[in-house]
Amino acid sequence: MPLSLLNDLLYCNRRAALKHIEGWWSSNEHTLLGELNHEHADLPGFEHRAGWKLLRALPVWSDSLGLSGKADIVEVRETRGRITEARPVEYKSGRKSKWINDHVQLCAQALCLEEMLGISVAEGFIFHAKSQQRTAVEMNDALRAETLEAITRLRVLLDSSTVPPPILTPRCEGCSLHEICLPELSRARHPNRLFTVET
Ligand code: SF4
Repeated sequence: MPLSLLNDLLYCNRRAALKHIEGWWSSNEHTLLGELNHEHADLPGFEHRAGWKLLRALPVWSDSLGLSGKADIVEVRETRGRITEARPVEYKSGRKSKWINDHVQLCAQALCLEEMLGISVAEGFIFHAKSQQRTAVEMNDALRAETLEAITRLRVLLDSSTVPPPILTPRCEGCSLHEICLPELSRARHPNRLFTVET
């Protein structure tokens, strides 16, 4: 399963299904900005900074979780040629998010690194391009449990090969698949059906 799909799932499970099961993709200002901000981090390579080695665009995976993807940056420290410390850094285009989906995506990267490197990953960072600041994210038990639960939900969704019906929420406004999903039209076609509208 693509690791980045966890972010979509926590945003909206229909969005994750539309992208992975039906293969839809569409850009909007948020996704285009995200791609621009990823340009540097998308170039594989490494550099040294403040005692850390920065690995860019590092492939990460976990056989046990059935996940694979790419970490924008992984900062590592080595002892005698072996990585002994690692912390993933995820680039995001906006300000600090009120949603937990970015944290879960970062934690999934940490879980992959732990399995790949045989070490414990205690923290990671989310770099917010707009404020040019980064937020430390602790890989605590609660976040790990939330991430494992999201991975299970993603697996169930993809195994079902079923795209859930739309639920109109405020998030739909910023969703790049809005024009494909058309949650308002679906409501019009089912006037007697109850739709959840989050406030
Ligand atoms: S428009 Fe709304 S319901 Fe449709 S995929 Fe996006 S967030 Fe989900």
